Amino acid sequence: MKKISFIEMLPYFMSIILSIILIITGVNYLKVKDDMKKLQAEYDELQTLYDECKTQNYSEDLDPCPICGASVKLFPINESFYICCENCNLRTDYFDSRKDLIDYWNKKHNEDC
Ligand SMILES: [Zn+2]
Repeated sequence: MKKISFIEMLPYFMSIILSIILIITGVNYLKVKDDMKKLQAEYDELQTLYDECKTQNYSEDLDPCPICGASVKLFPINESFYICCENCNLRTDYFDSRKDLIDYWNKKHNEDC
């Protein structure tokens, strides 16, 4: 039986090592690609929120306080929003939607008049 030397086996070892490196690189590439996708989605979401905040000046859309007539401000808290009078501290309940809160505030104000 012919004895195979280490030198003769070397190309096989090299190809096995190379295959392992390629597989690891490929898996990492897929992981990074997935992370990039997630980050892109988060970025898009934040960009939408930012644009929403930038284009809408909520205070301008709000009627003044029905009690004292001072201007009111809309405040975000956690995931909710409320409106508070800067003068007499009259305030609304918490609303999940800014739009619903603004509609509620302006409608309530008009009813009081
Ligand atoms: Zn007030």
